[in-house]
Amino acid sequence: MLLSKLKTGEFGIIAKVKGRGAFRKRITEMGFVKGKKVIVVKNAPLKDPIEYSIMGYEVSLRRSEASLIEVITPEEARHLLSEKYSEQQLTMASEPDLVKNGVREASKTINIALVGNPNAGKTSIFNHLAGAREHVGNYSGVTVDSKNASFKYKGYLFNITDLPGTYSLTAYTPEEVFVRRFIHEQNPDIVINVVDSSNLERNLYLTTQLIDMDIRVILALNMYDELIERGDKFDYTMMGKLLGIPFVPTVGSKGKGLDKLLDTTINVYTEKDKITRHIHINYGEEIERSITSIQVEIKKNSQLIVSYSSRYLVIKLLEKDRVVDKLLKAEPNYQEIRNIVNHEILRLESIYHDDTETLITDAKYGFIAGALKETYRENPHKRHQTTRQIDNILTHKFWGFPIFIFLIWLTFFTTFTLGQYPMSWIESGVEILGIFINSIMSDGPLKDLLVNGIISGVGSVIVFLPNILILFFFISMLEDTGYMARAAFIMDKLMHKIGLHGKSFIPLIMGFGCNVPAIMATRTIENRNNRLVTMLITPFMSCSARLPVYILILGAFFPEHAGNLLFSIYLLGIILAVATAMVFKKTIFKTNDLPFVMELPPYRMPTLRSILIHMWHKGSQYLKKMSGVILVAVIFVWALGYYPRKSNNTQEFDKKIEIVAEKLNTNSIPPILRDSLTTVIHQLQMKKEADRQVNSYLGRIGRFIEPAIRPMGFDWKMGVSLLSGVAAKEIVVSTLGVLYQSDVEADNNNLVEKLRNETHQSGKLQGKHVFTKVTAIAFLIFILIYFPCVAVISAIKSESGSWKWAIFTIFYTTSLAWLLAFLAYQIGNLIIG
Ligand code: GDP
Ligand code: MG
Repeated sequence: MLLSKLKTGEFGIIAKVKGRGAFRKRITEMGFVKGKKVIVVKNAPLKDPIEYSIMGYEVSLRRSEASLIEVITPEEARHLLSEKYSEQQLTMASEPDLVKNGVREASKTINIALVGNPNAGKTSIFNHLAGAREHVGNYSGVTVDSKNASFKYKGYLFNITDLPGTYSLTAYTPEEVFVRRFIHEQNPDIVINVVDSSNLERNLYLTTQLIDMDIRVILALNMYDELIERGDKFDYTMMGKLLGIPFVPTVGSKGKGLDKLLDTTINVYTEKDKITRHIHINYGEEIERSITSIQVEIKKNSQLIVSYSSRYLVIKLLEKDRVVDKLLKAEPNYQEIRNIVNHEILRLESIYHDDTETLITDAKYGFIAGALKETYRENPHKRHQTTRQIDNILTHKFWGFPIFIFLIWLTFFTTFTLGQYPMSWIESGVEILGIFINSIMSDGPLKDLLVNGIISGVGSVIVFLPNILILFFFISMLEDTGYMARAAFIMDKLMHKIGLHGKSFIPLIMGFGCNVPAIMATRTIENRNNRLVTMLITPFMSCSARLPVYILILGAFFPEHAGNLLFSIYLLGIILAVATAMVFKKTIFKTNDLPFVMELPPYRMPTLRSILIHMWHKGSQYLKKMSGVILVAVIFVWALGYYPRKSNNTQEFDKKIEIVAEKLNTNSIPPILRDSLTTVIHQLQMKKEADRQVNSYLGRIGRFIEPAIRPMGFDWKMGVSLLSGVAAKEIVVSTLGVLYQSDVEADNNNLVEKLRNETHQSGKLQGKHVFTKVTAIAFLIFILIYFPCVAVISAIKSESGSWKWAIFTIFYTTSLAWLLAFLAYQIGNLIIG
């Protein structure tokens, strides 16, 4: 009897919990497990929820939930056992004994359904199992509706249903609608997916839909005889692990492998099977984003998601499925759901220029192709498809790797060379704007804020926009063509060496663009430990925001070797990522990895539009950053540096300047002396400004942290710029830009010149250049490694689900940065002299 049918005061013992995986898990966690007694506290007809008492707790269940739980009452037990025992035995037995035996009897019934493509061999298998003589035929549509049979095996009673053949579970044909309704309404304990192994690609398509439904599936790898005959090699155990579905090879026509099939069924039913798990098919970044946003709305209908996986419903909605749409019409928030779905469909279709049904189908086939590539070796004559032909070259054993390196190199090379032109245009634009504002405004805080704060601060960052857009253009192109997935494939072996998976590789590459989307991309990695490790090492992938700093410093101090050094910095980042990953995998994150599928989507000629959209999507984040956090930081840094306007020495300087100025004003001064006096005034003014800066709030902060950064050879200005870089790495440059605008008359010296000329104002090194080549290197190393940026930290927090790893990242990166920069500075100085 269903638990929902029990009346108030009655009780039953749980025999079975039906329904999809997530539901079963939740309900068993609440204590509803086989053999437990449930008493109905209150079950008013037509009223929801129903109150129960189980193991002494009061729990309320919705009617829909209770109808997925099967219980046994004493009367039922008596009835069930009447075959086995005599009337007398039954009246003598105590009630608990009776019910216990009844439960055992009831839970030993397994309902299975055969689902598969037409001609996969379902009816053949059904006949062998049931001993029936159903008509088998080599054409589709033979099985029009379902056939039932029962048989016993190893003490279990199997109720088996042979369902009509379908290629898919969309709602196009009556067969498909029939199969779907059967699964949802009858809730078979186990679905046996019969697959024709001579056409795995097409047959597994249906399997992906069963996976979406989150039901318990076993795969009968039928026509296995033909696969053997062809001489193909198929690692079906591995495939089973990848899909979380046990694969059992069978020959339906001869009844081979069916015992194993039933043994596996019993194992899965009694939850002893090791392979069974629920996986998510990854539909790619954009579709996944749509899924997530629709899911939020669907999940508001807590009744509905008892019997349907919300993810499944969303996927169906994106496929424009009529049946699911009708199902949802009954929900109060149908209109809201519809609005979001329509919006998401429009969004996806405008990005890909393809309808969402095709997009999802493509993703499913990509998933299958990826899984087969890992497990299937075809024997003699290969089918030649364009994708395969291209794959043969791009993922070739020897050529794959060099091609990959070349493409990455090309990306970076083009980014830098092509980016230089627009960069210099913007640079001169910013400069002209500064000079113009300078000339039309009168002196004062506002002018200083505009010229030395906003224009030079934001300007020093905005010049890198073209570089970043170009980099994003390439990354988007690699993603959209489908190459990035292949790159992950090529890297898989290497990634395994550091304890990770090829899938970790894509986030890492994306990290070169921006760490934030990279950390979000780790979502596709199913294993939590691997995901965390990938997240933690991603910050070492030097993001494009750090690029401005490198270009500035390298251009200033190593103009001849800039290219090679830039490459070395990136390389150092990669080495650190690899090393830390290995350490993490050996210490904090030891696990046995579950294998998973790397999707190989078909190659697509990306539309310029989709590339531009993706490029813009990423680029606009950069612009937003500029008009938001960077602008605020620039103003903040500027204000801290601008105030207070006077130090203790200001008066003294003013006095000195006044004396010299007075001399200058006397008429009897010879022209030569006049010139040198002007110079003296200029120098005094510079000294005054420098003195004021040291005394400014910024200077005080800088001097406060100076002892901590001194061992790396940094002065307070560098310290302040590093502090400001915590908000965003570009701000390091803008802060240096603001800090070094200390000349009284803003001349045309650019920031590079100013860095080169900067000298220590005090201490042992007074008068010496702040930036030596060694300091510059130490500074670059520090920039590469330390505190990623607030956005990354918050991304790690939200993706890992706890502050723990976010805070951990702050500490381990910054300590490592300090250590390596310290070593670089000390060892560098030893070598140089
Ligand atoms: P259904 O449409 O899924 O019910 O498939 P049928 O059971 O009607 O089988 C279709 C055809 O495939 C029949 O001719 C069967 O004899 C044949 N067949 C079924 N299983 C196997 C198998 O494992 N090996 C081979 N070689 N043929 C099979
Ligand atoms: Mg059939």
